[in-house]
Amino acid sequence: MYNLINEALTNTNSQPDSKGNILLVDDLPENLKLLSDLLSKYGYTARSVTSGARAIKTAKAKRPDVMFLDVLMPEMNGYQVCQAFKADPDLCDIPIIFISALGDTVDKLKGFEVGGVDYITKPYQVKEVLARLEAQLIIQKQQRSLQDEIAKRKEIEEVLYQSRSLLSSILNSALDGIAAMQAVRDPATGEIEDFRCLVVNPIISKMLGRNRDDLIGKLVFRRFIEHIDPHLFARFVEVVESGDPLDEDFYYPLDDSDSSWYHYVAVKLGDGFAVTVRDITSRKQTELALQEANRKLELLANLDGLTQIANRRRFNDYLLFHWQHHQREQKMLSLILIDIDYFKLYNDSYGHQGGDDCLIQVAQAIAKVPQRVVDLVARYGGEEFAVILPNTDTEGALIIAESIKQAIADLAIPHQNSMVSDRVTLSLGVASMIPSVGQSLEVLISNADNALYKAKKCGRDQAIAHID
Ligand code: GH3
Ligand code: MG
Ligand code: MG
Repeated sequence: MYNLINEALTNTNSQPDSKGNILLVDDLPENLKLLSDLLSKYGYTARSVTSGARAIKTAKAKRPDVMFLDVLMPEMNGYQVCQAFKADPDLCDIPIIFISALGDTVDKLKGFEVGGVDYITKPYQVKEVLARLEAQLIIQKQQRSLQDEIAKRKEIEEVLYQSRSLLSSILNSALDGIAAMQAVRDPATGEIEDFRCLVVNPIISKMLGRNRDDLIGKLVFRRFIEHIDPHLFARFVEVVESGDPLDEDFYYPLDDSDSSWYHYVAVKLGDGFAVTVRDITSRKQTELALQEANRKLELLANLDGLTQIANRRRFNDYLLFHWQHHQREQKMLSLILIDIDYFKLYNDSYGHQGGDDCLIQVAQAIAKVPQRVVDLVARYGGEEFAVILPNTDTEGALIIAESIKQAIADLAIPHQNSMVSDRVTLSLGVASMIPSVGQSLEVLISNADNALYKAKKCGRDQAIAHID
């Protein structure tokens, strides 16, 4: 229908200056000529035909805006022509104005009955004909624009309907919770008191443990959300007031055995917000398990497998860190290198397993001596140990070294083949220094090593400090 009208409009507009395309139907050519000249004079395009049959043909070839139709004609009279037009879907919209010498009310009524829109009696007044014609053209124009409007609205309605169905199918099938909330403000202060649920999809209603109908349009959001997290309501208020989106993980403790993690994304929407909520519990649990596994792995990577104290890797990292720190702070850093005396002979006497047990005992005993948390005891190599003492001078380091020597003496581990004692003993080399800028930490290690060498050379079972 819309297309038909458009086509008709195009046809009518083929003569751009014409005020309208009029079809005149009268069996008398002189009548036709009179009316045709009149209409042409006033700017209309007029086509004339002398019978109903021709009128149908002409109108089909090119649709007129209005048709003037004589009543008294041979073959088909005007009423019959009008009926034929009204019965034809292509022509039924064309407004027909009867123009006839028959002026009785019954004739006029008949004209309207068969579908005419107006009836003019002859002899006619020119102004009257023009006014009635103009009225029909205006009505036609209005009808067309009305139909255009209706067609446009129908298109919009269709688009709206489709986007609504799309939206609701997304909402209903989404694996995430989706909701839209509208702020409800205190009329006096303007502050947000709560949010009204405008849209709630099935996942959200399941999360909140409520029927959708119990949520939509209700002011229940604050109660629910504060139950999940007391601060969450304020965060959503912030989204609305600042316009900054919220994008965070939230922990939702249900009970001791069952807890959930959710990821929220909330964005401002009008005077409210739209939120999507994703259950990330299983992802979060995997993450936490992975973090814990990594922590354990990190510990293991830094731990000596036999003695369960820090290993050489940890020693290297720790010494480098403190070397640089003491370099910046210009503070005294101390290192003790420890070596078990005649340990080869110990192995020879008590076997490799006996040697391992001894190493474990010695390591644990050494580890107990330094008291400060920053001190580090590590296994430096086979039967060698190292102690890093941050912010400690030679005097302090020697005290620790003597305490370690005593702690091993206290263990009183028999060592029948030792050349220095009948118990396991240690030699200890102590070095302390304030690292200079650009200096390598190898200097500190080498100084401690030299001191240890001296202790060995001087008879073992003793601690010696390096002196510059
Ligand atoms: P010194 O008094 O000069 O230090 O003599 P030493 O015998 O202790 O020194 P040496 O370096 O000659 O021998 C160290 C021995 O420590 C040799 C090695 O078999 C033993 N050893 C190193 N690591 C382990 C270990 O993990 N377990 C056991 N049981 N023995 C080890
Ligand atoms: Mg050694
Ligand atoms: Mg040794």
